[in-house]
Amino acid sequence: MAIEIKTCMRCKKIFQYQGYGRRICTQCVKEEEKQFEEVKEYIRDNEKATIKQIHEDLGVSPRLIEEFIASGRLILSASSPITLTCQMCGDEIKKGKVCDKCNKEIMRDTEAGLKNTPVQSKRPSGPATGGMFSRR
Ligand SMILES: [Zn+2]
Ligand SMILES: [Zn+2]
Repeated sequence: MAIEIKTCMRCKKIFQYQGYGRRICTQCVKEEEKQFEEVKEYIRDNEKATIKQIHEDLGVSPRLIEEFIASGRLILSASSPITLTCQMCGDEIKKGKVCDKCNKEIMRDTEAGLKNTPVQSKRPSGPATGGMFSRR
């Protein structure tokens, strides 16, 4: 496990980053967790709430709400007016980062990519001697 010292993206405090996930400190993770629960309950009670409405009522940042949805944690009801945009084609989506259509394409590309990956060729040129790291 690689523990690094990073600056929290939210509160700018220094913390020990575990090497995975978002770069926020445990304090902020807890806070987001709390906010996530609030938002989840809020949209359960207010199916037609917009991100703006949630933001105004709960004080949760719109970007965070979008992130909850994009990460697939926050599931919107079919009647929810909230939409995200597909990062590939710009279509409206209700969860995730890309629409189903683009998702399929990505999957296909990934599969094709795996099959067609050329054998890692050795570096075409470079010093024959010396270590792997060149010191400046
Ligand atoms: Zn923080
Ligand atoms: Zn798309």
